[in-house]
Amino acid sequence: MTQPSASALPGSPQLARRGSELWLEGCRLSDLAKVHGTPLFVYSKAAMRSALAAYQRGFAGRQSTIHYAMKANSSLAVLQVFASAGCGFDIVSGGELTRALTAGAEPGKIIFSGVGKTRAEMRQALQAGIGCFNVESEPELEVLSEVAQSMGLRAPVSIRVNPNVDAKTHPYISTGLKGNKFGVAHERTLAAYRRAASLPGLKVVGIDCHIGSQITETGPYLDAMDRVLELVEAIEAQVTRLAHIDFGGGLGINYKGDTPPEADALWQQLLAKLDARGFGDRHLMVEPGRSLVGNAGLCITEVQYLKPGEQKNFCIVDAAMNDLPRPAMYEAFHAIVPLTEREGADTTVYDVVGPVCESGDWLGRDRALAVQPGDLMAVLSAGAYCMSMASNYNTRGRPAEVLVDGEQAHLIRERETVEDQMRGERLVG
Ligand SMILES: *Cc1c(COP(=O)(O)O)cnc(C)c1O
Repeated sequence: MTQPSASALPGSPQLARRGSELWLEGCRLSDLAKVHGTPLFVYSKAAMRSALAAYQRGFAGRQSTIHYAMKANSSLAVLQVFASAGCGFDIVSGGELTRALTAGAEPGKIIFSGVGKTRAEMRQALQAGIGCFNVESEPELEVLSEVAQSMGLRAPVSIRVNPNVDAKTHPYISTGLKGNKFGVAHERTLAAYRRAASLPGLKVVGIDCHIGSQITETGPYLDAMDRVLELVEAIEAQVTRLAHIDFGGGLGINYKGDTPPEADALWQQLLAKLDARGFGDRHLMVEPGRSLVGNAGLCITEVQYLKPGEQKNFCIVDAAMNDLPRPAMYEAFHAIVPLTEREGADTTVYDVVGPVCESGDWLGRDRALAVQPGDLMAVLSAGAYCMSMASNYNTRGRPAEVLVDGEQAHLIRERETVEDQMRGERLVG
């Protein structure tokens, strides 16, 4: 497998080679590594803003809200970029609610998804005055109504429906098929809406679906929209009017020559369908995560050792599955490129692996690289589902994070120390 050439780096246009050096916006990445050490996540503010702008163009002239699905990357300064651009947030826990509010989110623009919301999380969200609960089961409707009633409130709800369409993505990140735990089955939806409308602690405000992640084709979205609009017609005829329609997230990014539609082009097609079926006047909502941040970030890592072998050569780096779990979890591909190119040097094919004691600890397989110990490399397209999934396995501190904005580089999270990790633990006796 060959590396993408410098001119075809997946990632934002803000990432570019100048001579032999890799830059993100106006910052030379090797300088950032010198100052902050490695492994180091670096994000481009302009790249996030331009990914968001594609959605904003797509919805120009419509009543709409873009809810950043913050589990993709929940670092406070990243949330701040989106909050200050007027975004709402899609949260999946009470912890995420606290983060969103800390970063300046408007409570009314927060929506709460997830199959296992606890009573405590419901109370916290009702107290904060969030905009909508995306309810994922009939028992959850009952509990939410009870909790809201006990507070003298009515919880705004939409039901997440499972449209049973194949998003044609990895099984672990497909969520809209019958066999998975998300949403209310298509054929149960009307009954669930009737129940919701009858419960004293609920106020029905919308409908929601989310069919999966890293979707690179338009077809599954168009199919899901057809299925959802059939339901909207039935619900409105038989139960109640729906003020908003939420189409979830899931739009893919380019990791390795993938060619997902641009958000504005996708929405042009979806809006045409929506208008044709007479629902163009509804408040439209989306919940994108990966497509807003994935290609805005990368992870810098240092080559520790080169270890030639009979069957495989290993390039051992200082980032690992605890920092960047997607390859280990989903066999995901991330391009890996040297920060400083060694002009004219021969390449060797390596598996790029971390120091964690697991065979699953790899970042890239069969990569042709011209590197030496001490060289710095960038793992690309690492803005989404990397740092937010990082763990302390092997008692490794999570990496530091930097947000670049033009020529300025802001440290937005300090590297985690072993003391940070042991805080709260106790010896016995
Ligand atoms: C994860 C998630 C999203 C965001 O998915 P992306 O693929 O990152 O766009 C949106 N909605 C819900 C309910 C989710 O669970």
